Amino acid sequence: MKLLRASHLGMCFGVRDAIALAVAEAQHQPLTILGELVHNETVLADLRARGIRFASQPATAETDTVMVTVHGASEAAKTRARARGLHVLEATCPLVHVAHRAVQSLVRDGFHPVIIGKRDHVEVRGLTEDLAACDIVLTEDEINALHERPRFGVAAQTTQPIERVRQLVALLRARFPQSEVRFVDTVCQPTKQRQSAAEELARQCDVVVVIGGAHSNNTRELVATCARFCPRVHHVQGPDELRPEWFAGAETVGLTAGTSTPDTTIDAVERVLWRLAGQPEGQLASTVHLAA
Ligand code: SF4
Repeated sequence: MKLLRASHLGMCFGVRDAIALAVAEAQHQPLTILGELVHNETVLADLRARGIRFASQPATAETDTVMVTVHGASEAAKTRARARGLHVLEATCPLVHVAHRAVQSLVRDGFHPVIIGKRDHVEVRGLTEDLAACDIVLTEDEINALHERPRFGVAAQTTQPIERVRQLVALLRARFPQSEVRFVDTVCQPTKQRQSAAEELARQCDVVVVIGGAHSNNTRELVATCARFCPRVHHVQGPDELRPEWFAGAETVGLTAGTSTPDTTIDAVERVLWRLAGQPEGQLASTVHLAA
């Protein structure tokens, strides 16, 4: 059995920096993170072990200092937290800030904002809560249900597959040919790299294992992308979930991981895969990296 790692996989710089900031701040003061800092149970358990607390909203925070997650928050949400007397720290990814600025700029220029993303995702809530009006879309039906506007300004949740985003923008243009449609590409580079590397990987594999949190949006998107090119795709959160029967008869097995998956989890999954393949773990370092 040959084992391939995607050329881009696992934790992005935004998540790494957010975790480092949370760990550093928690050394100086009791800290509550508002929501899941990242959608990965291993990372969250490690942060809890360091005394960091989690609350879904400021009202239930038990510390004076709270931290906004990597996914960002609206100005309204941060103001509400400050109004409760809380000191608000931000672990928002700089690329999520870029998306916020893009949406603000579209609105300033007179465009009706359309956000391509998941309505209930914390990043999309942060992008839209401050807006007087906006539409959130993710499907062709939702594009078709939009009301005509003279000017649409489109941006996307940073972790949406760029291919889907471009398709929806094209649909919007076709649906409203009289309207001006301005699209700002806010999908982040790490997401694009992981998506294209996952596609390249899946095209070459009999089986693909995608590692990531059960609630991680970008991990689910990686699963969906791989499934378009490889019929046997399995989403696991860690090595304990691997099943030997998944790899029966497989010649090439691929490995990729979402942007909140720690390197230690990826390495642990890879070690089990080598064991299932009946090959020594010493080959860990010789894993083939596909071209970018
Ligand atoms: S997935 Fe992209 S936007 Fe989200 S934290 Fe990572 S780099 Fe930032």
